Amino acid sequence: MTQITNHYLSWIDSDKELHCEALLMTKNKITIGRSKKADIEVFNNSVSRNHIELSWEDGSLRIKDVNSSYGSWVGNVRLKAGEFKIVDADTEIRLGNLSMWYEIRREDESQEMMQTVFHSTHVNDDIGLSSEINDFRVKLQSLLQENFGDNTINSQLINNINEELLQLIGKQERRLKEQRILNSISHVLNRSLTLCELLKTSLNLVSKVLNAERGFVVLRDQSHYKIYAERYFNDISWSDDDKGIKSYSQTLVESCFKQNEVIIIGDSKLNSTLKDLADVKHGGGRSIAVIPLVQDKTVVGVIYLDNQQLPHNFDVQQIPFLTTYAAHTSIALHNTLLYKRAITDDLTQLFTRQHIDEGLEQEIKQAQDKNQELSILILDLDHFKQVNDTYGHTTGDQVLQVFSSILTAHIREDDMAGRFGGEEFVVILPNTNCKMAKHIAEGIRKAIESESINKDGQNIKVTVSIGVASYKKTHGKKALLLFEDADKALYQAKEQGRNQTVCFS
Ligand code: GH3
Ligand code: MG
Ligand code: MG
Repeated sequence: MTQITNHYLSWIDSDKELHCEALLMTKNKITIGRSKKADIEVFNNSVSRNHIELSWEDGSLRIKDVNSSYGSWVGNVRLKAGEFKIVDADTEIRLGNLSMWYEIRREDESQEMMQTVFHSTHVNDDIGLSSEINDFRVKLQSLLQENFGDNTINSQLINNINEELLQLIGKQERRLKEQRILNSISHVLNRSLTLCELLKTSLNLVSKVLNAERGFVVLRDQSHYKIYAERYFNDISWSDDDKGIKSYSQTLVESCFKQNEVIIIGDSKLNSTLKDLADVKHGGGRSIAVIPLVQDKTVVGVIYLDNQQLPHNFDVQQIPFLTTYAAHTSIALHNTLLYKRAITDDLTQLFTRQHIDEGLEQEIKQAQDKNQELSILILDLDHFKQVNDTYGHTTGDQVLQVFSSILTAHIREDDMAGRFGGEEFVVILPNTNCKMAKHIAEGIRKAIESESINKDGQNIKVTVSIGVASYKKTHGKKALLLFEDADKALYQAKEQGRNQTVCFS
């Protein structure tokens, strides 16, 4: 029996979406790049406009790097420019830092990543039996004939056994599919570095596989529940906080935390115990699955998925899959949180000096390569020693925290704010010229100037001096030179009487 097979490439692009393209054997050459002209267009910045070419050789997929800037890998082996390499199924192909996954699927399992897996598992009569099972059948039949001779009963018995076997095989196939999906999932999750990226990716994958319409993650630290990365799948909108959450059952979330078990609600309309869930019309969700994220035997968070319309969208047979999926997410979550701790300053929750240094190096490279603008701010609180001397070190710490939240509130998503030590801070502003940087700096300066921090009935006032500098070609790759310029400007701001912004000129 010849099987028709299809070839797929899946990846998560910079839009955090799971993409999947079928690779057609009828097409001799398939190009991938960050360009509309490529057969497969991707968006990740580290992919060149014309990055690789795929082609076929005796039914196998071949890959060739077409002189990309950041290189290509198959498995963990880097391709030499111009070299052809055969790609095996279930292999990672990496273009720059974009990870793609190559899969070969039989016709009947074609859309597996895209959610059908768990919803149609008819026992398929065309499934071929393995030679071991066939041998077993033949032997069984001759044994039965020797012993009983009655062919009608024999045939019936054999039919029954056949059916059992086919069911077993069906289950086995399903397990294999789940395994492959988990493989891809663990693979993709381990590449996510930030918490937000990880949770988005994780929700994206599991929701696509399970046909959920909405998903979010609830993490708990001490007794606080915090919702992250909510996603509605119909309008593909994301939010990174809990402002958008319409309706969910906190009781379910809390039970999942307590019981450390996957909870599945088949039909919320028929479930009278969910008193805190809005009805379906108001976004309550018809089918619900709540999955615990466990670390060291403690539930640290839950994934909450629902389908607004369909009852019984999730079923108990998915529990082993969900549990393994959650274990993968938990490990990735643990790594992400460790990484976050390593790059975060404890007191202010801003980035550490080391992380800012690394960030600035990358931004300088970007500014050089793409001829983009880049500015930095160095900020130093004025007469901060006096604050400590007058109100004590603990109050001084609180002032640093207040200033840090003002800083965070005044910068944009792609900017980076860090604490350089003591009462000195740095902000990196990509794509920003000196004039815009000064405008942002002035916003921060005025905000802290007008803030009064209440301490035992007294109002503490602080001000800040800010030095601004912008990247120039003459700085080359040297972040230090840019820092020096900003530092000189800061020094001038202090000299001229503090509480002001000075641009280096
Ligand atoms: P200037 O306007 O010239 O910047 O004066 P200043 O007093 O702010 O500068 P100086 O460098 O003389 O003093 C900085 C003070 O910041 C000294 C130290 O007590 C305080 N400081 C440094 N790190 C911390 C911290 O983590 N917490 C607290 N509360 N104070 C800190
Ligand atoms: Mg100071
Ligand atoms: Mg200082």
